[in-house]
Amino acid sequence: MDRKERIKAILKGKNIIIFGPPGSGKGARSEELKDVCLVHVASGIALRTKVRDDPDSVLTHRALSFMKRGALVPDDIVVPIILEYLQKPQCIKNGYVLDGFPRTKTQCDILLSETNIDLVLYLVVPRDFLFFGVIGCNRLSCVSCGSGYSDFDPPKNAGVCDNCGGNLEKRVDDTAATIENRLKLYEEQTMSFFPDLEKKGIVKRLPITVKNEEEIEDKYLKKLGGEVYWIKDNGGKVRMLNKEGMKRRLYAVLEEYFQ
Ligand code: AMP
Repeated sequence: MDRKERIKAILKGKNIIIFGPPGSGKGARSEELKDVCLVHVASGIALRTKVRDDPDSVLTHRALSFMKRGALVPDDIVVPIILEYLQKPQCIKNGYVLDGFPRTKTQCDILLSETNIDLVLYLVVPRDFLFFGVIGCNRLSCVSCGSGYSDFDPPKNAGVCDNCGGNLEKRVDDTAATIENRLKLYEEQTMSFFPDLEKKGIVKRLPITVKNEEEIEDKYLKKLGGEVYWIKDNGGKVRMLNKEGMKRRLYAVLEEYFQ
């Protein structure tokens, strides 16, 4: 059995939360978990889909008024959408990866009382990168399937999704004005329940940075314009893993945790 097949077997029926600030790569990590057969349940995509499919409803107008400001959509809108999704047979059978949910203590409490979460993967990403990762590197997402792209991971054809051929667009909330607000909300609200998850012993850290002394093949490092990308972190400068490098690290963490 090759490594990917082993990971699929390990993950069958498991429920995972991808936890991290905006711009930390929750979408990309979730895609990798979807590739090993977990159902990807992204609250942001679920909300954007509702808004797209039902543009004139009261719920859409209410949700959009929060989303456009980078504010959190109220729990009474988000929680039922997500819980309904998690009841679907494919989620129960395959297991799922939750991306962008929970984001408040209420959401977390409800989720933990209604479901069984096996693992929380905490994405550890330097703060400086979060601004660049959302605003500076031309982040785009597919209007059809939600896949994400940027200057680090560009699509094969400009403006077209590699996965489904859908159009790529900049998100309405990816602006310099909202990112500060979104990071503040993350630090104040989302991090508030992180200790509850840690107490349950289900949190594993997944850092994107590579220690300076660590030898690593060039092909696993993030590059911009062909050059290895360095970012400020805790005063010093460090290298960061690219998609392929993060996938290897993700697989290693999963193998260690579940075996
Ligand atoms: P995301 O794609 O996860 O960055 O989400 C985009 C926007 O959707 C957020 O800025 C919020 O306005 C809203 N949103 C997504 N998930 C949640 C959630 N769990 N709770 C409240 N609002 C959310």
